[in-house]
Amino acid sequence: MTVDSVKINNFRNITDLTLSADEGVNVIYGENAQGKTNILESIWLFTGCKSFRGAKDAEFLKFGEDFAKINLKFKDNSREKQSEIIFSEKKKNVSLNGIQLRSSAELIGSFYAVIFSPVHLSLIKDGPGARRKFLDTALCQLKPKYAEYLASYKKVLMHRNALLKDLYMSPQLYDVLDSFDDQLARYASAVIVERLKYIDILSEYSMNIYSGISENKENISVFYSKSKEIDKNSSPKDIYIQELEKIKEARKEDVIYKTTSVGPHRDDIEILINNVSARSFGSQGQQRSCALALKLGESEIIKKVTGETPVALLDDVMSELDEKRQDYVLNHITDRQVFLTCCDPSQVLRLCGGKSFEIKDGEII
Ligand code: ATP
Ligand code: MG
Repeated sequence: MTVDSVKINNFRNITDLTLSADEGVNVIYGENAQGKTNILESIWLFTGCKSFRGAKDAEFLKFGEDFAKINLKFKDNSREKQSEIIFSEKKKNVSLNGIQLRSSAELIGSFYAVIFSPVHLSLIKDGPGARRKFLDTALCQLKPKYAEYLASYKKVLMHRNALLKDLYMSPQLYDVLDSFDDQLARYASAVIVERLKYIDILSEYSMNIYSGISENKENISVFYSKSKEIDKNSSPKDIYIQELEKIKEARKEDVIYKTTSVGPHRDDIEILINNVSARSFGSQGQQRSCALALKLGESEIIKKVTGETPVALLDDVMSELDEKRQDYVLNHITDRQVFLTCCDPSQVLRLCGGKSFEIKDGEII
C-alpha cells in the first residue's frame, strides 16, 4: 500500500499543502511546532480510526476557519484510490473514489497504516491498561468477531460488578452470581484465545525487528500474562473451564471488594529486553526501540491477514536513538512506504534514498 499524495487544507496549522510522496522513505523535518505531526495525523485519519492524539474532529479545523479538507491519493495491491474527508463545525463528509460514505469508520479496510508516535511509549512505560488497549485495538480492526466478544465480555463484567455492589443491600441476589460467572468465563475464553494467538505471532515478528534495530546485540520477548498458566494448545473449552474456576475461587474476595478481580480486563502483555522487564530496566533508547518493534510487528500481522502492507507513520521516532539505530529506521525498513518526522536536518543527510520535505509554518519549503 502506498500514498501517492496528500492534499491538506485548513487542517490545524496547515492552510494549503500538497505532499507528493516517494514510494520508499519520506522524511518530514523542521523545527518544533511547524506542522510535521499534523501531516502524519492527516494521513492516519484515512485508516478510518480516530486521531492517535485523542483529538476531536472540531480540533482539526484551523483556528478561525469553518472547514478543513484532506484528500489522499493512494494505491493498494489492485488499484489507485482516492479519499476525501471534509470536517466542518458539526459534521464530517467522507468519500472514497467519489462515493459518499456514512462515516469514517467505513474507511476501515481501504487504507492501512500503522502509527508510532511518542504517545505509544506508554506501551512500555505505563501500566497494563495501555498494553491491553493496544492489543484490543489491533484485534478489533482485524477481527470484527473479536470486537463482539470483547463488547459482550465488558457488558457482563459491568453487570457482575453492579451486582457485587448491590449484594450488600440485597443478599438474596447472591445466587444470580452463578449465571454471571458462567457468561463471564465464556466471553473471557473467547477473548483470551484471540489474544494468545495474536501475541504469539506478534512476539515472533517484533523479536526479528528488534534484533535488526539493535544489530543482533539485544533481544526482546513478548508474552501474554496468561501464557504461563494456559497451554498454547488449549481449546476454548479448556480455557473456559479454567477461567470459570478462577472466577469462582476469587468470588469471596470479589464480594468483599465489590469488584471482579480476575479476567482479561486485568491481563497484561509482558515485554522483556534481554530477559528483564523493559518497563523497569529498559533505557530510553531501548524502550523506544521496543515500542517501534511492536508497532512494526503489528504492521506485519496486518500484512499477513489482509495481504496489504500498511504504510508506516513514524512520528519523532529518532530522538533518543543512537546513530546505528537511526540508520536502521532511515535505511533498513525497505519493504514498505515510510513517513517519518524529525527535527534534526543532519539526520536527513544520512538518508540513502527516498524524499525529504522541510516544513515551516505549515508549508513545505
Ligand atoms: P514537534 O517537533 O514539536 O513535534 P510538529 O512540527 O510536529 O512539532 P505539530 O504537532 O504538527 O508540530 O503542530 C504544529 C502547530 O500546529 C502547533 O504549534 C499547534 O499549536 C498548531 N495547531 C494545532 N491545532 C491547530 C488548529 N486547530 N489551528 C491552528 N493551529 C493549530
Ligand atoms: Mg510533532
